[in-house]
Amino acid sequence: MIRYHRLEPRFVQHLPDQLMPGILYVSMEYGTVGHSCCCGCGEEVVTPLTPTDWRITYDGETMSLSPSVGSWSLPCRSHYFIDRSRVIEAGQWTDEQVAAERRRDHLAKQHHYGADCGQMLPTLEPEVKQPDTPGRLTRLWRWFSG
Ligand SMILES: [Zn+2]
Repeated sequence: MIRYHRLEPRFVQHLPDQLMPGILYVSMEYGTVGHSCCCGCGEEVVTPLTPTDWRITYDGETMSLSPSVGSWSLPCRSHYFIDRSRVIEAGQWTDEQVAAERRRDHLAKQHHYGADCGQMLPTLEPEVKQPDTPGRLTRLWRWFSG
């Protein structure tokens, strides 16, 4: 169930420690978009902007994020589209669909970046902040910032 049906875009340098629900934070410096899960579960969903991951469209007022956000590693397994700042609930995926998307994503990254660095690349799945392990996100950001 979606509780937040609108996300207001906010451009920031760094994502804040606490993401406010209803805000779509965009860090151009880190090529990262973050928001609090629209189901209201409070989990932070971080989506990298790269040629093989997500992309944003900003029209000066509203923000669109594509493709959809599927938080398969969260208990809520939320899946929704963000279209012109509106949050549109999408259907749940089966485990098979999730596995197929992971394979497709891996191949797309191999194709784009070359086969050798496939292991280093983030997968097309939102990063979920683990309370006691900030290292994963830090590593991801370090990778992006070179
Ligand atoms: Zn959620």
